[in-house]
Amino acid sequence: MASKTIFQKIIEKEIPSEFIYEDDLCIVINDINPQAPLHLLIIPKKPLSKLSDAQEKDLNLLGHLMLVAGNMSRKFNVEDAFNIVINNGEKAGQTVFHLHIHLLAGNKKLNLPK
Ligand code: 5GP
Repeated sequence: MASKTIFQKIIEKEIPSEFIYEDDLCIVINDINPQAPLHLLIIPKKPLSKLSDAQEKDLNLLGHLMLVAGNMSRKFNVEDAFNIVINNGEKAGQTVFHLHIHLLAGNKKLNLPK
């Protein structure tokens, strides 16, 4: 069996990390190396390696993660200006092979549309 990712260890509380939010399907934590003033990671408890591994049965989970992203944006008062990023695959910059959504806000450089 493949060894656990850092996110799996965080979900299972083997590694301490503050949960900003948790429900049956996901957790939300601060990124350890933030690329914007607000940089959250929305991580499903189900250990999907990457988005392109998701299947029809994951439809509800994927929708749920997006809803949580919206909820987090309101929680942190950035609902009018934030970016969602999913790195899929090593060549696209993915470093942790447990699906996660980056929610970034407060960085003018990321607010591309003018
Ligand atoms: P990726 O490059 O796979 O899209 O994103 C992985 C993210 O996880 C990176 O932004 C990195 O800073 C973050 N990260 C890696 N290890 C840890 C950790 O132990 N704790 C937290 N909170 N974030 C981590």
